[in-house]
Amino acid sequence: MASEYDLTVHEAHDLLKSRKLSSLELTKAVLERIHRVEDKVHSFVTVTEDMALTQARQADENIKAGNLSPLTGIPALIKDVMCTKGVKTTCSSKMLSNFIPPYDATVVERLKAAGMVMMGKGNMDEFAMGSSTENSAFFVTHNPWDLDRVPGGSSGGSAASVAAGEAIYALGSDTGGSIRQPAGFCSVAGLKPTYGRVSRYGLVAFASSLDQIGPLTKDVTDCALVMNVIAGYDVCDSTSVDRQVPDYTKSLVPNLKGLRIGVPKEYFVQGMESGVEQVVRRAIGKLEELGAEVEWDVSLPHTRYALACYYIIAPSEAMANLARYDGVKYGFSAKEAENMWDAMEKTRQYGFGPEVKRRIMLGTYALSAGYYEAYYLKAQKVRTLISREFAETFTRYDALVTPTSPTVPFRIGEKADKPLQMYLSDVCTLPANIAGIPGISVPAGFTDGLPVGMQILGKPFSEETLFRVAYAYEQAAGWQKRRPNL
Ligand code: GLN
Repeated sequence: MASEYDLTVHEAHDLLKSRKLSSLELTKAVLERIHRVEDKVHSFVTVTEDMALTQARQADENIKAGNLSPLTGIPALIKDVMCTKGVKTTCSSKMLSNFIPPYDATVVERLKAAGMVMMGKGNMDEFAMGSSTENSAFFVTHNPWDLDRVPGGSSGGSAASVAAGEAIYALGSDTGGSIRQPAGFCSVAGLKPTYGRVSRYGLVAFASSLDQIGPLTKDVTDCALVMNVIAGYDVCDSTSVDRQVPDYTKSLVPNLKGLRIGVPKEYFVQGMESGVEQVVRRAIGKLEELGAEVEWDVSLPHTRYALACYYIIAPSEAMANLARYDGVKYGFSAKEAENMWDAMEKTRQYGFGPEVKRRIMLGTYALSAGYYEAYYLKAQKVRTLISREFAETFTRYDALVTPTSPTVPFRIGEKADKPLQMYLSDVCTLPANIAGIPGISVPAGFTDGLPVGMQILGKPFSEETLFRVAYAYEQAAGWQKRRPNL
């Protein structure tokens, strides 16, 4: 047997069910792994060891009583952007470094009800703004495949913890690629569900019309299992959609017969690394072997405006969402101030890091009188065009397949002072957020020993199709079985 911390959710479940392993043994194995590798990886802002042990014991009681669901007793990490009752939720920001929420996010509540063992909270780019986890106010997370490189971001802690065996599965959030890009960089599976599929209640808002929560897992089966629990309507989130949740594991079939797949040429962008392109084209070839009808030359011409559109809309929404951090209601509050304005200024000056300030300034500019029509309003129109183009394309194809990112994981520090280059990291992922469609990244192989992800996109609420394509590919290719040497 592989080390317990290397197990997938479904493998661990089988062992728990047959009583060959207890949740306490599994949890201790994962904790031990955390103690051994966390010095190198730094996935966690907070490790909730006592809570994990208590939950594991409780899970074992439930299992003994014959009461177990597919996630019962299985260790998970939650990105530190989701509220956890009684456990610090920092968004990797000085602003919230001591914030303890009085309630659980709906996804956390659902996972707890399904028997989760929570190992802790995952490091991230501050307020989920970034693509490398270097924007964390606390420390940088390292890629388990090469410790000199970034794990991607903003859900870098989530992806790295799963790849390193510090959690069996994790939750992340994705506003422009923050689940899929780190999943690709760390060779794990990561799904950004359709906008409205998963409740965002208790998710600290970055850009509310783009944010979605989703799973990061060792394989596609696990991804489906976690989605079965977190998806679905929530009265507390008015943007969640009241629509039945299918059993996603039913779409895990090992062939693609009859499926029409398009390969949009705009996603093979200029500046893409040739190793990445080769790996992804080879992976798409596999889809053909599996029975899919692949059209290699699809065009979505509006794709080229997606990045610019995103960097107007996301900062505009962010600047409004971050206005609440005024030093009065939540989090950090500068004490030594002359008056109210001075207090607010000092609070925000100290509490926010440079990238967050950059976004606030971009958003304020785009929304200001005289510029609103030229920037924000125009971006909204472009957003409509991009959505329509996807909708039209999905009348002809069941799914689109692209690289997840144009590059392999880059070196820590390499892009830290180059915001535009950093933003380009998400060119392939952010169109899905703009259109609200689902996207999954699945490990597609390696180039020079570094992971490459393949992204599969579908129309709204077609997660089942994405799972089918990702699963069939994964079963044929086998990359999910590799683990980094740590
Ligand atoms: N990297 C993108 C950004 O910085 C996306 C982040 C995200 O999806 N949260 O905005």
